[in-house]
Amino acid sequence: MPAARHETNGPGCGWLGLAVLFCAGGGCISKTATPATRPDIVLVTIDTLRADRMGCYGDRQARTPNLDALAREGIRFETAVTPVPLTLPAHTSLLSGLQPYRHGVLDNAGFRLRESTTTLAAALSRSGYATAASIGAFVLDRRFGLDRGFDRYGDRFATADRSRALLDPSSVQRRADAVVAEGLATLETLRRPFFIWLHLYDPHLPYDPPSPEREAFAKDPYRGEIAFADRALGPLFFTLKERGLWQAALVVVAGDHGEDLDDHGEPSHGVFLYDTTLRVPLIFKLPGGRRGGELRRDLASLIDVAPTVAALARAELTGVDGHDLFGAAEPVGALYAESRFARRHFGWSELFALRDPRYKLVSAPRMELYDLQTDPEERRNLAEQQPERVSRMQLQLEQHRTDEVQGEAAVVGAEERAKLAALGYLGSSTPAVPAGAALPDPKDQVGKLGRLLTLQEQAVKNYQSGEYGKATALLEQALALEPRFIDAHAALADCWLKSGELKRAVEVYRSGLEISPEDAALRRGLETALELQARRAIEAGNLGSALTPLAELARERPEDAGVRFNLAKLQQDLGDTRAALDSYRIAARLDPRDTKAVLNAAILVEAQGGLAEAEAGYREVLARDPNSAAGHFLLGRLLIRRGKDPAEASEHLQRAHALDPSLPSS
Ligand SMILES: [Zn+2]
Repeated sequence: MPAARHETNGPGCGWLGLAVLFCAGGGCISKTATPATRPDIVLVTIDTLRADRMGCYGDRQARTPNLDALAREGIRFETAVTPVPLTLPAHTSLLSGLQPYRHGVLDNAGFRLRESTTTLAAALSRSGYATAASIGAFVLDRRFGLDRGFDRYGDRFATADRSRALLDPSSVQRRADAVVAEGLATLETLRRPFFIWLHLYDPHLPYDPPSPEREAFAKDPYRGEIAFADRALGPLFFTLKERGLWQAALVVVAGDHGEDLDDHGEPSHGVFLYDTTLRVPLIFKLPGGRRGGELRRDLASLIDVAPTVAALARAELTGVDGHDLFGAAEPVGALYAESRFARRHFGWSELFALRDPRYKLVSAPRMELYDLQTDPEERRNLAEQQPERVSRMQLQLEQHRTDEVQGEAAVVGAEERAKLAALGYLGSSTPAVPAGAALPDPKDQVGKLGRLLTLQEQAVKNYQSGEYGKATALLEQALALEPRFIDAHAALADCWLKSGELKRAVEVYRSGLEISPEDAALRRGLETALELQARRAIEAGNLGSALTPLAELARERPEDAGVRFNLAKLQQDLGDTRAALDSYRIAARLDPRDTKAVLNAAILVEAQGGLAEAEAGYREVLARDPNSAAGHFLLGRLLIRRGKDPAEASEHLQRAHALDPSLPSS
């Protein structure tokens, strides 16, 4: 609603009207922010933003004037880190104030925030804030739970044509300028005080900035994406200033994690816990510009953002792991970080890290210890030279995670997996290997990592354009390189399924499930493949070939009465009466409302001469459905056959005829 921009009075114009009223009262809001006023809050998270790629963090090649200006005006945290270098888990920590092991969202796919977790947005909303968010990518879609506490959650990406959705990047992400535009439009309508969160996804892979950054950073498109994100923030900052909202507002900018850029052999982020991916920019501009220009050298984690913002807004947010960065008496002694990515996707060890103001311990099968003061690039592993420090820090690290919780498992459907894959995410949903197993150290596998990710990425592209042959070749290469690469199993099996190679699909789903038995997506894929195999054989009149897949499907889905019924019918058609009878009985037990399985079983039993049992069967049908025409008819006929009460028999036959006139009444 651009018309509202130039309005200067009138009560009915949302926050703008209020701003003007404040100005008309005791002087302009920009000069009178008192402790009694709850500040408007603007939170900007910029995805994949490595701290040392910003001008204000010392990068001379960066073009980040808006953020640099904010840092000059606000408070910049020199050593801020994410507790986990993955988008959804990191944002969950940032918005909940909890360590990953306490909110339980351990990966980008497969988890949803538990209902019981209070978020910053919920706390602010409870204390009277209007809340809104605009999201840059599907990985933070509301289905994963971060919409909690937001009155409005902008996570709709333009998808004109659903059939093209998987090929069209706009179905899973949008550029920073679009996010900011939506945020500005939302601001027009928000009452105050407000809390708005904008998530800018641009610096995430693929690095593809628009012009003029595309040309200006042709050789370094990652920096180009950051420059574009910075430029996109211009209108937001400008508008807040123009409306007189800026000065009194709390503005927070944070990265969710960095990007290794192959400094430690990782093309992007997620596996390792080096500062290239852990260290993020963190800038606070306090209401009234308090402490402007301050540089903080003490440790800060993204888990501190929520409690700090809540404290500044005087909102209650309890039970968090982070602390108020401006209210704590003492600086934080040590920070925790983790990544289960390598374990969940490649079957390599997970990593945990603890950093104090000087040293960082990375707990891996082979321990790593770095002196960040003398070796900020983490090139010299001191673990063997300083075993005492290693064990002391390891002990401290183990004190974390004593109250680890399980996140709510979110079943990753094919659509979700495809959308996450379109963003370049791997979509496995469970650990690839059981706890306690000796796992490879990710740093020993680093030579493969880039190749595996490239193969996967290319395969996903081929898969999305329907080139299954090319995709399978690439995925088979990936599996030859790393047989535990669970996502490659899943993708390869999906490819075989899509190209109709059902037998191969079943084989690969099975080999994937051997590695990751709890993987719901693999299991569902296997079931689909088995079902299609059985159906295809039945349609071709090849009943014998349908038996094996259908029996396997029944084993996969032991609770599925429908599958069991189909199996029973197939067994009956194949002449295996005993097996059919067993299957009908199981189906009848699984579904208390079923009558077909009970009826078919009774018919089979009667045909074998088990008249008493058959009678009981027909009576059971009528107990389940008193209006079963077939039940009345068959019971009536059986009663005559058994020479029992003719009156009752006739009653049943008449009832059957009344229900279904095609049945004879006597
Ligand atoms: Zn991210």
